Amino acid sequence: MDYQFYDTYSNSKKIFLPLDPTNVRMYVCGPTVYDYAHVGNARPVIVFDIVYRMLKFKYGEDHVTYVRNITDVDDKIIEASNTLNEDIVSLTKRTIEYFHDDAEYVGALKPTYEPKATDHISEMISIIEKLIKKNHAYESDGNVLFAVDTFENYGQLSGKSLEDLIAGSRVEVAEYKKNSADFILWKPSKENEPGWDSPWGKGRPGWHIECSAMSEKFLGQMFDIHGGGQDLTFPHHENEIAQSESCNDKKFANFWMHNGFLSIEGEKMSKSLGNFITINELKNRYQGDVIRLNMLLTHYRQPLNWTEKGLKESKKILDKWYKIIETNNQNLQQDHENISKKMMVALADDVNTPLAISELHQLYKAANDGDNKALNAFYSSCKFLGILNSSYNDWNTWQPSDTNLDENLINELIAKRNQARNSKDFSEADRIRDELLNLGVILQDKDGKTTWKLK
Ligand code: AMP
Ligand code: ZN
Repeated sequence: MDYQFYDTYSNSKKIFLPLDPTNVRMYVCGPTVYDYAHVGNARPVIVFDIVYRMLKFKYGEDHVTYVRNITDVDDKIIEASNTLNEDIVSLTKRTIEYFHDDAEYVGALKPTYEPKATDHISEMISIIEKLIKKNHAYESDGNVLFAVDTFENYGQLSGKSLEDLIAGSRVEVAEYKKNSADFILWKPSKENEPGWDSPWGKGRPGWHIECSAMSEKFLGQMFDIHGGGQDLTFPHHENEIAQSESCNDKKFANFWMHNGFLSIEGEKMSKSLGNFITINELKNRYQGDVIRLNMLLTHYRQPLNWTEKGLKESKKILDKWYKIIETNNQNLQQDHENISKKMMVALADDVNTPLAISELHQLYKAANDGDNKALNAFYSSCKFLGILNSSYNDWNTWQPSDTNLDENLINELIAKRNQARNSKDFSEADRIRDELLNLGVILQDKDGKTTWKLK
């Protein structure tokens, strides 16, 4: 069975033929780590986890390489570190831990590699050097910029002409740019900002070059699938293509897959509207399976309206599904062979998860009528999709916690306390410990790490 995926670059659904079936390669842009991830960020995590599972199913467990990077140097990170008065290493480290917890909670498999930008600065510098040598980039006022008019296909992915890009003021106009659509590859670091030595002075990379460098290191100059949210099409992915293809004179990624955006109760999710839900908050209210099923009920390219009603319905479906599994516990056989062919046909057609789930409903019905084959197909297929992860007992006894604890606040206070301890301001550190105690939070310091629990 061939897979077909919609490719943003060619604006069409295409049959997926890997460059090398013994090593199918996928790169997905991961999080920028300065705060808890929100439910919108969980969408690419879940969607590309399904693609990863599909690829492993067809090409074999050990024949797929999935890279999802971590952006740990960025303006937003510097800003958050200043606001919280927490050093960047500690801020990014704890945010990466939150992200890992969140990804596990929504049932995502670990990617093969999860490179961090700050570990690949020298690779970025060597791509920039090559681009300068090939006249695709130039230095200006300590910045290095990519000259977009040297790349003929610029705008192809997002379907924009260079003129449109310049006219629509989505590009920053600056003195040091030859063309206002030129974008930063390297910029000087201000004092107190993270910086690395480079041929252009102490500085830091632009965001786009990170992904060109990390994808090449782990997947080679050309690979099969590049994914991310729709918002990344322009400028991020457009710029990745320009850099990598100009540097290597080769097509970069064969398929560009983008997930649609998630809104909340019909409204665009934003901090100012106050409808911003972190995955971490959801952990108190729903089991991870609920989040995952709810996400998969909408096709990945469609906009997704995240509602409390939808979550409750997903929970109800799963209650039924866990029940039938528990009732027929002794008859179950989880096996690749048992995975529903009809479900795989649905997925093979551009990851049609809503159709795949309607197939699960059919199988559930037949299983409920005593069809043992359907029961096994149902169970194996659910497992394939990464749902039914808990034991029945855990599922059934789980209770939402109605604590209104603001974990963000707790972690901010812990970070501030650590800062105070580091600068030997022990009275401030003790004050913060008491403040947390008043909130019902007890701190434990062990092996240089601070953890907390409820009183
Ligand atoms: P960021 O940490 O902002 O770089 O985003 C990480 C990933 O989440 C990227 O692939 C984004 O495109 C994606 N993303 C961010 N917001 C949303 C949203 N509201 N809906 C769907 N995907 C999103
Ligand atoms: Zn990227």
